[in-house]
Order: sequence, then structure tokens, then C-alpha cells
Amino acid sequence: MNKLVIIIAMKIKNEDDLDNYIICHKCFTLHKIIPIKDGYMASCNECGAMLYRYDTKLVDKSLALSISGLIFFILANFFPIVKIEILGHDQFITISKTIFTLIDSGFYIVGILCMFLIFIFPLMILIIDIILFTLLKLRRSKKFTKTLLVLLAHILPWSMPDIFLISILVALVKLIGYVQIDMGMAFYALIIFVLIDIYIVKKVKISELWILRENMILKRSKN
Ligand SMILES: [Zn+2]
Repeated sequence: MNKLVIIIAMKIKNEDDLDNYIICHKCFTLHKIIPIKDGYMASCNECGAMLYRYDTKLVDKSLALSISGLIFFILANFFPIVKIEILGHDQFITISKTIFTLIDSGFYIVGILCMFLIFIFPLMILIIDIILFTLLKLRRSKKFTKTLLVLLAHILPWSMPDIFLISILVALVKLIGYVQIDMGMAFYALIIFVLIDIYIVKKVKISELWILRENMILKRSKN
């Protein structure tokens, strides 16, 4: 059955007007954003999908997760991921060693890309998240939180630790049978870091962070 889609034509007086509207990510219905109370969420009246929520508890939870994420990120990067035994010799593989080996072997572009996608960008996201959630918690710094949110939106699509984890798993499966492999502490730290990263990146949307900034910092400074 074909669904009738009604398109609402609106005159845009200035681009800021668009900030007052939100499109449902499931059925693409346009909604006007209305203020909601702390702990509540707004849903689409067509399909019921969540449009946005305002939950100050999210700040504490996300701050704690970002700090834990940073600890596991450090562990994952500076300790061996796997120990491989080749002809009686033990080889310890760390993320930083893998990146530098790529660069040393002449794979400059791949090495630099890996450095940004699995080290620099994830680290930047964690640091931005920790500063941002701390400032939201303290309800301070209108301008700096805006800069952090814009920067976060630019970096987020380029952080790929989950894809890196999958590629390690694929490589390990291929090596099983040929060499003796022992998982290092960093391997488990990487799994926990990736799970935390997925939660923060996928569950806490940038639009929700803008709403939290609006309610926790801007409205407070107006009062
Ligand atoms: Zn919808």
C-alpha cells in the first residue's frame, strides 16, 4: 500500500530557523522541536521512534564511561595485543609497533592512515568527550562547548577502532594452525574499549549533546 507523504513548505527566514525542526530518522516526518523536561524523550507521532531526549543523568554516565574508555585505550595501545611464537622466538605485537612497522616498511600512506583512524582520532574523541561532559556537569563555558561539539561532529565518522578489532580477529583466525598465539592483556582491553566506544558513539547522539548544552549551559546563563 502506498503511503501518502505530505510535504510541508515553509519559508526559511534565516538558517537558524532550521534548528527548531527535527526529521525522524525512521519515517522522515518533520517535527517541530519542543522543550521537554529532564528525564523525558520526544517520539515521532507517526512511527514512535525516539526523536530526541533530555536526560542530565546521561552526562554522569557518559563522563564515567569516557574516563574508563581512556584507561582501556591506554592499556590497549601500550601493552602487547598478542604474543606469537615463531620458530621458538616470542614476538610481542602492539598497536604502536604495528603502525611504526608499516611506516618503516615503506607503507607510509597506510601507516599514517592507521595512525589517524585507530589512534589519533579515537584518542581525540575520548579527550573531547571527557572535557565536554565535565563542562556540561559544571554547567560552564558556552563558547568552548560549542567548539568541542563542532569538532566532535567532524571527527566521529573517522574513528574506526571497531573495524581495527575485526581486522585483528580475521588475521588471528588466519594465523591459527600456523603459529602459537597467546592473547595479551591489550587484546581484552581493546575489546572493552571498542564496546565503550560503540556505546558512546552510537547511543549518545550529537543532537542530544546540543540539547544538553542548550538546557544545562545556555538556559542557565540566561537566568
Ligand atoms: Zn517517525
